[in-house]
Amino acid sequence: HAKERGRDRCQRYSPELAAATSRRVDLEHDLRGALAAGQFELHYQPKLSARDGSVVGLEALLRWRRPGLGLVPPSDFIPLAEQLGLLVQIGPWVVEEACRQMARWRADGLGRVGVAVNLSPSELRSAQLMDSVCGSVQRHGIEPGQLEMEVTESMMMEEPEAAIAILQELASEGVHLSIDDFGTGYSSMAYLKRLPVDTLKLDRHFVTGIAHDARDADLCAGIIALAHKLGLQVVAEGVETESQAQALRERDCDVCQGYLFSRPLPAAEATAYLLARMARP
Ligand code: C2E
Ligand code: MG
Ligand code: MG
Ligand code: MG
Repeated sequence: HAKERGRDRCQRYSPELAAATSRRVDLEHDLRGALAAGQFELHYQPKLSARDGSVVGLEALLRWRRPGLGLVPPSDFIPLAEQLGLLVQIGPWVVEEACRQMARWRADGLGRVGVAVNLSPSELRSAQLMDSVCGSVQRHGIEPGQLEMEVTESMMMEEPEAAIAILQELASEGVHLSIDDFGTGYSSMAYLKRLPVDTLKLDRHFVTGIAHDARDADLCAGIIALAHKLGLQVVAEGVETESQAQALRERDCDVCQGYLFSRPLPAAEATAYLLARMARP
């Protein structure tokens, strides 16, 4: 007990701990108000055909513009937002904003650009998911096939039957589905066969080694061949060098995404990127 009290007292009087606690309280407070305050924005990272370099779509990535602190990346707030149950509201905002952007691009003469959004575990469980997705698609007059939703293997494996059912419902509406970070999570090949997904996103960790590590290269080749046998296309994540892109092309990868081609861009810059690509394909 003395020891515990000692630790307690230590904690009470530690300025570092007090500061960390107050930062965490501030973060939580600010995060709870961020959606209503309009502080979220989507950045868009292009995905390019490995064969001809044409843009096949973009992935929407969430950013939080926190007053006084700049742009906060998802790794710094999404886990907490999920823990606080906030993604049940933020998720539908992401889908709505992505659909609004697709409609803007169409109005700008860019045609029916495809956008992928990331789903959180709580959204996949949410009873409002279908209504929110269908509502956004209809409100903005986009084709359901322009919208893609990315789920991770671990999300699938929590409650596979429920997840399969909801993914089937989305697929039947025409929404495209992909498995994100493929190869890093705990997954079952038996479920892979049953999922109505179109695409595997090969995790960046395999891509990193592909040009210099023979085992990574073999793994990539194997995953790509497996995906193709199952009728799925493969998007490589985190392509940073020309030699990685070359190695992926040689192994018949379909689509590349990564800093080599473009970082995630704010909407206005993504529009400029698309317009420039259209003028000079
Ligand atoms: P993710 O879906 O796997 O997204 C890819 C991440 O890799 C993005 O990080 C992207 O900026 C980064 N990236 C892209 N190209 C490269 C590259 O060449 N090298 C490296 N090192 N990284 C690259 P970001 O934007 O920080 O997002 C991190 C994760 O946060 C995402 O991983 C996704 O799981 C999650 N996330 C992002 N937006 C949302 C959202 O709207 N909703 C939910 N639920 N999760 C989101
Ligand atoms: Mg993703
Ligand atoms: Mg990913
Ligand atoms: Mg990843």
